[in-house]
Order: sequence, then structure tokens, then C-alpha cells
Amino acid sequence: SKSRKGNQFELFKHKLVGKNDHILVLETKLRHALKQNLLELHYQPKMDLKTGKLVGMEALLRWNDEELGQIPPNEFIPFAEECGLISDIGEWVLKKTALQIKEWEKHFLYDLRVAVNISPLHFKEPDFVDKLNAIFEETKVRPEHLEIELTEMSMMDYNKDLINKIQEVKRLGLTVAIDDFGTGYSSLGYLKQFPVDTLKIDRSFIVSITEGESGVAMVAAIIALAQALKLKVVAEGVETKEQIEILKQYNCEYVQGYYFSRPLNVEDITLKIQKSMK
Ligand code: C2E
Ligand code: CA
Ligand code: CA
Ligand code: CA
Repeated sequence: SKSRKGNQFELFKHKLVGKNDHILVLETKLRHALKQNLLELHYQPKMDLKTGKLVGMEALLRWNDEELGQIPPNEFIPFAEECGLISDIGEWVLKKTALQIKEWEKHFLYDLRVAVNISPLHFKEPDFVDKLNAIFEETKVRPEHLEIELTEMSMMDYNKDLINKIQEVKRLGLTVAIDDFGTGYSSLGYLKQFPVDTLKIDRSFIVSITEGESGVAMVAAIIALAQALKLKVVAEGVETKEQIEILKQYNCEYVQGYYFSRPLNVEDITLKIQKSMK
């Protein structure tokens, strides 16, 4: 079963901690998975809180190794960053997403945007924008169908290059979101200068909504901040009715979370998109 396989990975890590073998095996497996197209994307719906309508989704990587089972992205993404595979993986994710959008366009009147997580290491590559552009030229998918999510952490070493690159990406027609907002301690002065479109409130704040008044106050303040800066705001990790009610009260526009849907495989998200069009 899935959970038993999940444990295989825990066991593997536990046994080989501190040994170079473990790193080597994992790296070889990840390279192989990438090359052989064994990675997969799941898509989590993003909903408009007022209308309850599907307005977009976030692509999330899945790696199911035949020996080790499901390896969580929180484990293999940092690993891929360490062993220099992250840009290739990011390229793969962008390309795969574009091809998926093309597939949807073939079958129905597709008009949504997919958000893709991009590692700061990948984003900082000098040819990031050229390669991004090449994907659109090759697939003929419109950049208006994509959003890039950069974590607040990755915005911390604030500089002109970063701002310029975000601007270049936006000029292509993509939008840019700050992911995990609230966890990076970025200065508000800097935030004003980032030409981003969306703030995604980190799940930890959404959890804190139900843990007392100060939790609610924090979320309310982030929503107000986003509105003051004319940014869209997405609450992530919404799981309960209570959270929904409070987010509605403070006019949060968009939500993602298990309350509405877990990340879905291609087949299931496709059905969901089609249903939302009726
Ligand atoms: P993230 O970008 O903050 O993505 C949100 C994570 O929260 C996802 O975990 C999602 O499945 C999970 N989630 C969504 N709704 C809920 C909820 O209601 N409750 C709870 N408890 N969790 C919820 P996932 O898919 O395991 O991804 C974890 C992290 O791995 C992501 O966090 C992101 O930082 C990274 N990641 C995933 N896919 C990619 C990728 O393609 N590229 C890069 N660079 N990073 C990725
Ligand atoms: Ca994200
Ligand atoms: Ca996030
Ligand atoms: Ca996160």
C-alpha cells in the first residue's frame, strides 16, 4: 500500500543517514526518474471564495519510486537543489505543465492559469527567461496560462537583478506570486518594490485562525496589506468550515486547501475543470 511504501523511504533515510551511499542512490534515482519521465504532476484547485468557482490550480510534483515509494517534495526538492538537479527539474515541470495546458486546449475551451513552483536557484539562472520563452514558442501555449510561485524566502536577498527578472517574466505575460507569505520576515518596504501579482498566505497562519484572536488578526492584517498593495491574495491549506467563514469575513479572494480539494491527478483535475465550465 501507499503508506507502507512511504515508510520504506523513512526506513531508507534512517538506515543510511550520514552515509554517502544514501546520497548517491537518491541522486541516481532522481536523475533516472527525470530522464525516464517518471515524475508526475498533480494539480490542486484554486477557488474563488465568494462564488465557489474554480479559478486556477497549482502544479505539485510527485515522485513515486518503485523501491522507496512516494518521496515527498519537501524532501526531494531541497535535495535536488543541493545536487544541482533543480533547474532541470524546474524545466521539466514548466514544459510538462505547458503540454498539459495544450492538451486541455485541444479538448475544451480552456482559460485558466496554472501556478508552478520555481526554486530560487533555478530562477536566478541567467538563461531562465530565454528558456521559459523557448517553451512557449515550442508548445504554442500562451504565457497568460502560467503563474510562477517564488517563496518569500527566495525574495530575501533583495536586489535589482531579482526585480528586473520578475519584470521580464511579467512582460512575457505570466503572473508572479509570493509563496509562503509571512514566513520569510521580508520587510514591508521591500514588498512594495516587488512587481508581483499575488500573495499566498502560508498555511501556518490559516491554522492559527482557529487558535485565538491574534491568529485571526494576523490573517486579517495580511489580507489588508495585500489589498492596500493591490495584490491578489490566496489562503493556502484551508481545511475547515470555520477557517472559510473567517476568510470570507475578511474578504480573502481565493483559497486552496483540502476543504475544497487535495491535489488531483490529471484525470481527476480534468474532470473538475470540465465540470466547472458547465
Ligand atoms: P507549497 O508550494 O507551499 O505547496 C503547498 C503544499 O501544501 C503542498 O504539499 C500541498 O499538497 C499541501 N496542501 C494543500 N492544501 C493543504 C491542506 O489543506 N492541508 C495541508 N496539510 N496541506 C495542504 P506538497 O505537494 O507535499 O508540496 C510541498 C512543497 O514542495 C511545496 O510547498 C513546494 O515548496 C515544494 N514543491 C512541490 N512541487 C514542486 C515543484 O514542482 N517545484 C518546486 N521547486 N517545489 C515544489
Ligand atoms: Ca506553492
Ligand atoms: Ca505555499
Ligand atoms: Ca510551503
